Amino acid sequence: MKQMEEKILAEGKVLPGGILKVGSFLNQRIDTVFLKDMAREIAALFVDSGVNKVLTVESSGIAIAAAVGMEMGVPMVFAKKHKSSNVDGTVYSAPVHSFTHNSDYNMVVSTDYLCRDDRVLLVDDFLANGQALHGLIALAEQAGATVVGASAAIEKGFQGGGDSIRAMGIRVESLAIIESMDDTGITFRR
Ligand code: 5GP
Repeated sequence: MKQMEEKILAEGKVLPGGILKVGSFLNQRIDTVFLKDMAREIAALFVDSGVNKVLTVESSGIAIAAAVGMEMGVPMVFAKKHKSSNVDGTVYSAPVHSFTHNSDYNMVVSTDYLCRDDRVLLVDDFLANGQALHGLIALAEQAGATVVGASAAIEKGFQGGGDSIRAMGIRVESLAIIESMDDTGITFRR
């Protein structure tokens, strides 16, 4: 998505440790007009996939996932991040390591909100090492649901998470894929 690349070049800030800051339009101040454009683009990519649920993880995935759900006319479910595993049979649960925050957590979603008939589209703001999406895939597997694909607003291709999920046979569509970035500039995958 050309607009996304332009937005990243205009407003993104590359921080040490391979972190891209996009607080001005995606992570803190949300550009709602652009959010709708992003959601339309993702919804159009998966329009023929029979999606009946959008799944993300709190908190930074919620805005874009809700917007995609609205465009597709389907509910959005977000997994919560818990410190303890809380496995009491009423939730699906998967351990996740966050490299960005250097922390571990359990991703949980109530068994009420994910089921074997679901055709799930995974949506997140960033796709980096892929731990968040692998956690969501594990939750869908526990529910017996079908993952029809995954989409991130921004994929950091150099961290390999997106390609590891593509290698599982899952369709991954990111609105922009950053091939490399440092304080001298950002290049995109072509
Ligand atoms: P992953 O699990 O793919 O390594 O990382 C995905 C999660 O980490 C995203 O949900 C996002 O919140 C966060 N994240 C990873 N890299 C970045 C980044 O460069 N910038 C921002 N703002 N968040 C990131």
